[in-house]
Amino acid sequence: MLRVLFCQFTLLLASITVYGQATGSSTLIRGGSVIDGTGRAARLVDLRIIGNRIVAIGRLSPKMGEKVIDARGKVVAPGFIDIHNHSERGFSTDPEARSQIRQGITTILVGPDGSSPWPIADYLKWGGEQRLATNLLAFVGHATVRRKVLGDNYKRQATPEEIRRMAEMVEQGMRDGAVGLSSGLEYDVGNPATTEEVIALAAVVGRYGGIYMSHVRDEADLAMDAFREAIRIGREAKVPVQISHIKLGTVGVWGKANEAVRIIDDARRSGVDVTADCYPYDAWASTITVLVPSRRHDDPVAVAKGLADVGGAGNILITSCRTHPDFEGSTLEQIASRRNITPVDAYIRIVKDGGAGVVCKSMIDDDIQTFYRQPWVMVSSDGGIGMRHPRGAGTFPRVLGRYVRERGWLSLEEAVSKMSALPARRLSLRDRGLLKTGMKADVIIFDPRLVNDRSTMLEPFLEPVGMETVIVNGQIVIDAGRITGARPGEVIGFKK
Ligand SMILES: [Zn+2]
Repeated sequence: MLRVLFCQFTLLLASITVYGQATGSSTLIRGGSVIDGTGRAARLVDLRIIGNRIVAIGRLSPKMGEKVIDARGKVVAPGFIDIHNHSERGFSTDPEARSQIRQGITTILVGPDGSSPWPIADYLKWGGEQRLATNLLAFVGHATVRRKVLGDNYKRQATPEEIRRMAEMVEQGMRDGAVGLSSGLEYDVGNPATTEEVIALAAVVGRYGGIYMSHVRDEADLAMDAFREAIRIGREAKVPVQISHIKLGTVGVWGKANEAVRIIDDARRSGVDVTADCYPYDAWASTITVLVPSRRHDDPVAVAKGLADVGGAGNILITSCRTHPDFEGSTLEQIASRRNITPVDAYIRIVKDGGAGVVCKSMIDDDIQTFYRQPWVMVSSDGGIGMRHPRGAGTFPRVLGRYVRERGWLSLEEAVSKMSALPARRLSLRDRGLLKTGMKADVIIFDPRLVNDRSTMLEPFLEPVGMETVIVNGQIVIDAGRITGARPGEVIGFKK
């Protein structure tokens, strides 16, 4: 109750006062704790926006007709840049990107994991016509071009001629404004590709100054080999590498984040420009059958291995089950013991009866913490509009609330940098990601004592709290906690 009252009080404090005649073109953010994204300590200064640019930072007094936002007690930071976001379709139903701006995200990169819109030019044009609340950039997807060239017959290596045609498409995508090539080598279409195929395509984006971003071939027992493959692609294609949502997803590699860090640090020292992003969750949500990748769902040995890989049936929570609604909310272990059968038998029965939705713990906090502490690891959501995993609505506030404030894993300055300046630098966005005079005015104001996520595996759409003001290109999209409906996002075609 106190918390609610406090929240309303702080909302009042952040409300906007207009001095004299409003012009709407000049905004002064006063008295906030300004964290500029560079990682340096917060400063109590004011910030002025005119049009779509930050024009001054320092001790400033209001001018006639200027809009003034009182930010005392709040943090003023650069808008967040989400380098791994699945909103490409979501934007058509929700151009205001409500669940995204509520997290402080002001720039969204679509087309990760090898799967992108195509053609890139048409998509970016569409994004501009839609008028979106956030800025938009896109990757070219490896699987997308692979599927176009190989058709349904993609479960094989590509021929040199097919690789040449894919390379042409990637080049077209880069000319049309894509920021680089994404791959999803663990998925159906990307997986049959040889490392050499990916090197050939990544080399194309390298020539255009783009990056190679990969959901690597294995995030489980063979994760270290998969990181090495990503590094090799960067070295041989001469292209910067971004490892997507870096994780160690099975018991066999839990606790080995330091080994992964060593592999990547060694590569960085040897001249390969490798970075990564990480989302702040230790569990995934999917269908129960993904636990057994061999798809031998009635083979007790394969099932036992699948359950052991995630640390046992106690880590598998049934969230939806049409044929056995009474299972919902229980773990596979609890269901087995209630029925007096083994968890393996419970799994086989559930799959036979039509399957179930599950949430499965697949990572440990120690590894997530180790990754977030590396200077080359940024925050990304792997979420997006309509995502049924809580990361779709909660990622950025969750890092600020849980990892910074509650657990002290990172300083607020470090966390903000990982959400803004670091992805901006990775993407060569020279006029975003920092609070600095002359930069585009993507600016957010949040309450560092309140900011947090609320979305959960069972209620993935609950909105986060504490994000009070969000400004995109100088226009306010969240005003004292209220979505204004403004859609000032720019489509950013990548240019070297
Ligand atoms: Zn992925």
